[in-house]
Amino acid sequence: MPRRRHTSDITRREFLRHAAVAAAMGAGVAGGVSARQTASASTGEEEAAVVKRRTLGRTGLEVFPLGLGAGGIREAAVARRALDLGVNYFDTAEGYQEGNSEITLGKALKGRRDEAVVATKWGWWEKETADDYVAALDASLKRLDMDYVDIIQIHAASTREHVAIEAAREAFERAHKAGKVRFNGISIHENQVEVVEAIIAQGWYDEILLVYNAGNAQQMKPVIRKAREAGIGIVAMKGLAPVHEAMKAEEPRELPDEPYRKAMQWVWKDENVANLIVSMPTFDQVEEGVAAARGELTPADQKKFEEAITQASLGMCRMCGACTGQCAKAVQVADIMRYRLYHDGYGDRSRAVALYRALRPGASAAACGDCTSCSIVCPWGVPVQERMRDLHSRLA
Ligand code: SF4
Ligand code: SF4
Repeated sequence: MPRRRHTSDITRREFLRHAAVAAAMGAGVAGGVSARQTASASTGEEEAAVVKRRTLGRTGLEVFPLGLGAGGIREAAVARRALDLGVNYFDTAEGYQEGNSEITLGKALKGRRDEAVVATKWGWWEKETADDYVAALDASLKRLDMDYVDIIQIHAASTREHVAIEAAREAFERAHKAGKVRFNGISIHENQVEVVEAIIAQGWYDEILLVYNAGNAQQMKPVIRKAREAGIGIVAMKGLAPVHEAMKAEEPRELPDEPYRKAMQWVWKDENVANLIVSMPTFDQVEEGVAAARGELTPADQKKFEEAITQASLGMCRMCGACTGQCAKAVQVADIMRYRLYHDGYGDRSRAVALYRALRPGASAAACGDCTSCSIVCPWGVPVQERMRDLHSRLA
């Protein structure tokens, strides 16, 4: 495996190369980079020079605070643009877009593999043996057109059992020995506090990808600190979820100016978080994300933002996962709420529909139509039955 890059800041030489590429792309390669965006890349040298990379726990990997969540990426040039601007953490999965996310990312990083940290995922739900896991990683490497990935993650762990899958552990050891993967990771969306505690106790994992935003801070901040103190690198996701929810609310919710930028900067305030992945399928979003990373939330703005999110997210899903296992009919409420975010928040209908339709029989919200009253008690006051019926009518 190539040696990883140790540079901790974006250098002047790198910036000039980024600016040159920005100019070339602004000339028409992408057709989506506005004059404002190109100018922001070519006039922000001083700002770009101070974006500090962060260390991803005991992996020692140095990462730009903003990462590209490649689940919705459709154009290699967009991911390449992110790389040009200093983004070096890229998150994908075997299941995203039925493998096309990995293919697109591989094209984007072609010839510049050593500049990137690449994390992919293997799903536990369709594998039994270590051979199954190793075969899945081999297939991911083929789609990525790479010899190795930096991190392989168990995808969507939601129980203590998912943290302790021996076949995955054995597969990781074999693949690591063969030079196909460097570090062992795990991603979680639900039941997060319990699962993170289990991960820390297990001691197998170098990195965790978890849901973290101003809406679930009270619950997550302490356990993130604990994981970091145990040497585990923390990558956050769904950092924009409370803003997406508030923006899509039927009744208008009051938010501060530039809420997306502030939502990202809120996450970066936590020094225990090395990286926040954001779904950025367009040039605009990449540019805006990088611009956010070049700034910082002031303490006054942080306070105002937290207050606004607390107010705005009353009755909205915070992705806490507390509803997991509560439905007597086994509807996967937390997963379905996440698909709702993909649909309404990210505008990614095809991903939301594909995931919803792939739910095992009985796990969809079809059952909610016959339910006389919902047994789920959401600590954040989300009207679960109403949301489930609405989602089913739109995604089934
Ligand atoms: S519906 Fe409520 S309990 Fe379920 S994940 Fe959302 S906020 Fe948490
Ligand atoms: S409405 Fe009924 S079936 Fe639907 S989530 Fe609530 S308890 Fe489960």
